[in-house]
Amino acid sequence: MNNTAQLHQLNPNAIALCALGRWIASRHWVPATGGNFSIRSSEHSALVTASGKDKGELSPQDLLPVSWQGGELSCPGKPSAETALHAQLYQLDGQIKAVLHTHSVQATVFSRLITEDSYQFNGYEMQKAISGNTSHDCPCPLAVFDNTQHIPTLAAQVRQRWQQQPLNWGLLVRGHGLYVWGRSLDEAKRHLEGWEFLINCELERLKLAR
Ligand SMILES: [Zn+2]
Repeated sequence: MNNTAQLHQLNPNAIALCALGRWIASRHWVPATGGNFSIRSSEHSALVTASGKDKGELSPQDLLPVSWQGGELSCPGKPSAETALHAQLYQLDGQIKAVLHTHSVQATVFSRLITEDSYQFNGYEMQKAISGNTSHDCPCPLAVFDNTQHIPTLAAQVRQRWQQQPLNWGLLVRGHGLYVWGRSLDEAKRHLEGWEFLINCELERLKLAR
C-alpha cells in the first residue's frame, strides 16, 4: 500500500463514504459497478470513487483524490468518468459536502418517461425529505437532462441551469440515473432516499393511472 492509500485508510470521510456505498448497493441502486460517489476534502478537492469498482465493496483506497481549478481536473489515478460533474457541483455551491450518483431501475425508467426538462412532484409528504421543501402542497421540482457520453457538456448544461436557479438537491440524467448532493453525507443520503422514494411513487401512480 502506498502512502496515499494509507492516508485514505485512516480518513473518516473515506470510511463513511465506503459504508454508505455498501448501504446504497444493498438497495440495488448501483448495479454492475455503475454509479459514483464523492466527498469534499477542501474548497478545491474531493475523494471520488475509482472507475469500475463494485460500489458495494469499496475500501478507502478505492477513493481517489481529485482537485480542480476552474475547468481543469487533476487526479493521480483513474476516477469515475463522471468526476467532472461532481467537481462542477462542488464549484456551484461551496456548502456541498457530498455527491452521490446512482443507476437505479426506477430512476432510469422514470427519466425516460419525462420529456420536459424538469418534473414537478406535488402532494407527497416525503417531499419534505428534500431540504427547503416544507410542505406536500408546494411543487418540488427535479431537473432532467439528456444523457451524453461527453460529461463536460453535461456539466456545462448543469451550470447554465443552476445559474438561472439552483437545482433542488438532485437531478436526473435521461436513461441513465440520478445525482443527489447534500451539505453533509447524511443529508446527501436523505436526499437520495427521498428522491428514490418520490420517483418510485410517481412510477407506481403512472402505472395505475393507465
Ligand atoms: Zn452514471
